[in-house]
Amino acid sequence: MKEKLELMLVSAIEAMKNATDEAMLQEIRVSYLGKKGQLTSIMKGMGSLSNEERPIVGAVANRVKDQVSETFEEQLKSIKSSVMASRLSHEKIDVTLPGRIKTLGTKHPVTLVTEELIEIFSSLGFCVAEGPEVEQDFYNFEALNIPKDHPARDMQDTFYINDDVVLRTHTSPVQIRSMLKQKPPLRIIAPGTVYRRDSDITHSPMFHQIEGFMVDENITFGDLKGILTTFIHECFGKKVGVRFRPSFFPFTEPSAEVDIQCVICGGKGCRVCKNSGWLEILGSGMIDPEVFKSVEYDSERYSGFAFGMGLERIAMLKYGVNDLRLFFENDVRFLRQF
Ligand SMILES: [Zn+2]
Repeated sequence: MKEKLELMLVSAIEAMKNATDEAMLQEIRVSYLGKKGQLTSIMKGMGSLSNEERPIVGAVANRVKDQVSETFEEQLKSIKSSVMASRLSHEKIDVTLPGRIKTLGTKHPVTLVTEELIEIFSSLGFCVAEGPEVEQDFYNFEALNIPKDHPARDMQDTFYINDDVVLRTHTSPVQIRSMLKQKPPLRIIAPGTVYRRDSDITHSPMFHQIEGFMVDENITFGDLKGILTTFIHECFGKKVGVRFRPSFFPFTEPSAEVDIQCVICGGKGCRVCKNSGWLEILGSGMIDPEVFKSVEYDSERYSGFAFGMGLERIAMLKYGVNDLRLFFENDVRFLRQF
């Protein structure tokens, strides 16, 4: 019996040392020391021993039991600590690592200029209106006194979807849509995207304009000058010189182009202003009675003015950008500067 007990001890220790997790270790312990385990079944032989042998074998059995229990405890500790070590190595947080930086976007310079212009004209009582970019011929041309044979409709300039539908070439169709929808008095600005078949350093096939118009009784060219001069002083500073030059547009009569004193050289003459000291920034004029006719306004009773300008142009002058294409290339190194 003593031998059986010693053999059991050796095999129990070996089995426990090979256990890889807690459940397996518990199972081994039960199989040796449990009520139906090996130790119990060996001890059943105690009855056949002599009185002298019994205490000796009993002592061996106790020692074996203690040693198996001890091995179990040791092994349990080591399994638990290796589980903990592997968890720690997996779930380790390195507090010295730099944090993840969330980069903030910036507004596009054309958006910034659009927002600034909306704010200036809002303070002068203008509301914002919008219209579709895919536009009917009637709104883009016909109603604006640009008949079928007008050179502005040349295939060179306009993207035609079909004979009757175009990508709008200016924001002026919003003027027609607004006037058809409501009666004077009107003070509206309409910023938006426009399209022309043109592409070089100073032209892009897609660009942005802002259109503005005011219609009421007794609106004069003096109102046009007053509103536009106020706008320019708000946008480019009170000291900048402004001049109105006679011009021609099909939808206004009389028409004027508006120049500001060169913001680069202050009027002395430079490359940007082609040594003239002046920069053209917008087109304007009194709304042609022909346009009123197409929206059924009484041109004897009402008068009004309209103006339009390129938003990229304003952004270029405000921020000193010399290449239009920079606005559309979406190079973050450029865009981040605003
Ligand atoms: Zn200049």
